Amino acid sequence: MSSHLQDRSPTVGRFAPSPTGPLHFGSLVAALGSYLSAKKNRGRWLVRIEDLDPPRVVPGAAAALLRLLEALAFEWDGEVIYQSRRFERYRQVLQQLSEQGLTFPCSCSRREIIASAPQPGEDGPIYPGTCRRGPVGQRRERAIRLRVPDEELLCQDQIFGPLRQNLRRDVGDFVLRRTDGLYAYQLAVVIDDIDSGVNQVVRGADLFSSTPRQVFLYRCLQQPLPDYFHLPLVLGVDAKKLSKRYGPSALITVQNGRQALWWALEFLGQQPPQELAGAAAAELLSWGIEHFSPDLVQTAGQPAPVLSN
Ligand SMILES: [Zn+2]
Repeated sequence: MSSHLQDRSPTVGRFAPSPTGPLHFGSLVAALGSYLSAKKNRGRWLVRIEDLDPPRVVPGAAAALLRLLEALAFEWDGEVIYQSRRFERYRQVLQQLSEQGLTFPCSCSRREIIASAPQPGEDGPIYPGTCRRGPVGQRRERAIRLRVPDEELLCQDQIFGPLRQNLRRDVGDFVLRRTDGLYAYQLAVVIDDIDSGVNQVVRGADLFSSTPRQVFLYRCLQQPLPDYFHLPLVLGVDAKKLSKRYGPSALITVQNGRQALWWALEFLGQQPPQELAGAAAAELLSWGIEHFSPDLVQTAGQPAPVLSN
């Protein structure tokens, strides 16, 4: 009678690293958080290589990353997805959005946008809508932007709570295809997650502010939203976000991987028992699956542990 109540679709989560260098602690936390959250619900866990931007891809990094995940006993479901093999799909969806009148070509240079929008937004200067009624710039190269509404969008995050953003005011019409012809991260991520049936997005809080743009894309594509879980930032020793300047002590290797996994459980607030430190990776993961509780994850960023190498 009330079959819809039992018919909750199984969890599909994913880990989506960029192959731009070796795995560091922040990525391990995202891998572990998404893995435990999916497996705790007996769901599927996918791995997607975000090699959308060929010049940034480091040759061999994706293969090394997958070998490391394997060495740390992570088991992904299905084939690994590579964004670089999906450009045709992105083109189709972009065309569909354009046919609906939701996009426009933009001929502004970055310098022109900065000149007319000196206020920095979530992700660079806020685009002031210059070309919304037709390209006005001088350049022949055109980016494709998505028209965004002047209204407050409400996103719910399972860890951080609600996030309100007015895309027009805080971001501006954002790029879906760059002037160099490459597809934008926001577009690719949403299409990939929709096509793979991902209904649970667990990732680092550095991506929290791009969530409203993605939520708006789901709306344009008339697709149901995934649940969002943003994990606390991993900070460097100087309490800055770990980025390209993370120290070698935060790099994950096969040798320090088990130690790093224990610290990642601790980082996620799961309080792994001390005697589990030094246990095999598979044992750490199965303890994590059994005990994982998203309620224990804190929002405050924390420094990376110093790992031995
Ligand atoms: Zn423009």
